[in-house]
Amino acid sequence: MVTRIGIHASIEALFPPEVLRDRLAAVDPEVVVVDTDEVDAVDALVTFAYEDAFLDAGLDWIHSVQAGIDRFPLEEFEAAGINLTNSTGTHGDSVGETVAGYMLAFARRLHEFRSKQERKEWAWAEWDAPFTLSGSSLCVVGLGTLGRGIAARADALGMDVTGVKRTPTPVDHVDTVHPSSELHEAIGGAKFVALAVPLTDETEGLIGAEELARMRADAVLVNVARGGVVDQSALADALRADDLGGAALDVFETEPLPADSPLWDMDDVIVTPHSAAAHREYPDRMAALVRENLRRIDDGERLANGVV
Ligand code: NDP
Repeated sequence: MVTRIGIHASIEALFPPEVLRDRLAAVDPEVVVVDTDEVDAVDALVTFAYEDAFLDAGLDWIHSVQAGIDRFPLEEFEAAGINLTNSTGTHGDSVGETVAGYMLAFARRLHEFRSKQERKEWAWAEWDAPFTLSGSSLCVVGLGTLGRGIAARADALGMDVTGVKRTPTPVDHVDTVHPSSELHEAIGGAKFVALAVPLTDETEGLIGAEELARMRADAVLVNVARGGVVDQSALADALRADDLGGAALDVFETEPLPADSPLWDMDDVIVTPHSAAAHREYPDRMAALVRENLRRIDDGERLANGVV
């Protein structure tokens, strides 16, 4: 039974922790905002960050407010008997729209015009730079919550959508689903390649120099997964050499992206600060996940979105 839930102060990176505390005001357990040195006073913790102190604080359950759980040491959680849940399932619409926005910007040159506006420059893009998404191709690597959200929007925009997942079962809005072993063929012909896989031992460095070389020279790489899925220096090299048309990047090997990264200054690179899933209803979605799992705990059911 959960008697006291802590909302870890690290949630401030996404929204004020007090907002989530207030959204959970009606649940039975007491809900308090806690710093790391206070976590031993709660049984369950909702958090953005991972801290080693969580392991021996006597916690029964930790909920990550992100879908990605690559920062959490899963084996240690298992050994410590801590249940870990994540927030997958909640970001398909927000990230899907962000990726549609990136692709529209590239097709209609919106990022270019915004840069020109900052210089009060009234000028068209090169005559042959604009295109339409309708009829353009997209390969979505990873077809879970994010990938499906991206595919649905791309399909609605008239794009030809293919994808890659470990188990190549059919997915709505995706014409052809390839297994991971066909990654090279899948990304080879696409104008846009969007990455939506978790960062795991298998996906670390999934897109390196070899994969970039297989992509079309005018292709745009979209990464809303995790920075480690892409070899960032190989990506910068490919962009510099014009072996790639552009990139829209929400996630990076090091975040915040260091000021000396060449990616900041490239015309055909859109940099967003790991904000693809940002949404004013984020705290409500987290509160709904926490409430559902409190119900499951009361009813003796398995936790939703259980990782460990
Ligand atoms: P899901 O678990 O719903 O989906 C993951 C998908 O990736 C599945 O389709 C899975 O395949 C596929 N996959 C896993 N490993 C491989 C592989 N080796 N090769 C090909 N496909 C693979 O996760 P989400 O869609 O919710 O999130 C995905 C990741 O995106 C998160 O782990 C997180 O890191 C990141 N993320 C980023 C956000 C942002 O703000 N930028 C927001 C939310 C998430 P299969 O279906 O066959 O199992």
